[in-house]
Amino acid sequence: MTILEQMLEGTKSVAILGHVRPDGDCLGSALGLYNYLRLNHPDIRAAVYLEESSPKFNYLKGYDKIRHQVDDAYYELCVCLDSGDIQRLGDFKHYLDQADKSLCLDHHVTNTRYGGTNVVPDEASSTCEVLFEQLDEEKIDRHTAECLYTGIIHDTGVFKFSCTSAHTMEIAGKLMEKGIDFGAIIDNSFYRKTYIQNQILGRALLESITFFDGRCIFSAIRQSEMEFYGVDGKDMDGIIDQLRLTEGVEVAIFIYETGAQEFKVSMRSRYLVDVSRIAAFFGGGGHVRAAGCTMSGSIHDVINNLSVHIAGQLDAVPDGQK
Ligand code: 5GP
Ligand code: MN
Ligand code: MN
Repeated sequence: MTILEQMLEGTKSVAILGHVRPDGDCLGSALGLYNYLRLNHPDIRAAVYLEESSPKFNYLKGYDKIRHQVDDAYYELCVCLDSGDIQRLGDFKHYLDQADKSLCLDHHVTNTRYGGTNVVPDEASSTCEVLFEQLDEEKIDRHTAECLYTGIIHDTGVFKFSCTSAHTMEIAGKLMEKGIDFGAIIDNSFYRKTYIQNQILGRALLESITFFDGRCIFSAIRQSEMEFYGVDGKDMDGIIDQLRLTEGVEVAIFIYETGAQEFKVSMRSRYLVDVSRIAAFFGGGGHVRAAGCTMSGSIHDVINNLSVHIAGQLDAVPDGQK
């Protein structure tokens, strides 16, 4: 029996949480668990609590059942998904505080093990992969499979990031056997962009700058530009991935303004730099090749502060590997 199954035994209510600004892995794991419980444990009262997310994920079953506000309900068990530390849970931390028991399922190298029980294999591609291992494969239906597949393709960049393993592909294959329309999931949730999302992507690429001999690329979107195009943070998906693909780039940084002198920072690296260490230094976290944090100051402050850390790591690399 898996750890999750053991914890579900005799449990009457479960709150399912994820991180602020939910992404594909967060939504996929939360709704994957929700649908699995609805189907196989109908006696358990379960609810998903997450911030508003991009409507491109509305094909996931249960998307319309997600609660966006803290309410008076009490849950015996709290399952925290894809969230490396307590702050990532945002306001919904409330349910972790009041629960009798908690389980953290995650894959971030920076995870602080804040759950009562923690299952955090940091070699896993995604929380959906971690969750898959905790479920009974036979009891996964097409709807749950769609959720888990969505999380895997988002965190692996459709099976191309270094976190993708042969095991990831095996799990994806098992999910395909559940009858999912994998092509539609990939197109609709990963590649499809609205006209305006393409425009902001174009703008970010056009305004990007490179430094450290083209080994770093940086771009920023200000709030005034977001207002002009009528976009918010949910429309910025994929910008960092396109920056990362620039030839010769080792580190890509994309930031957008979330408040006065406050920026959401995304970082990606190719081979050498551990961006999770840099993000953790500034109060965030993530993975070795993909991490993020929130920073305050001007755009120049952000670049200056990050570049010191990047230079430190690049300088530490032996000449032959540069
Ligand atoms: P993204 O750049 O796509 O927002 O995030 C990249 C990775 O870093 C994701 O795994 C995400 O969960 C993690 N991450 C992003 N921002 C933060 C943050 O502020 N704090 C922590 N702990 N992790 C973050
Ligand atoms: Mn995530
Ligand atoms: Mn994840």
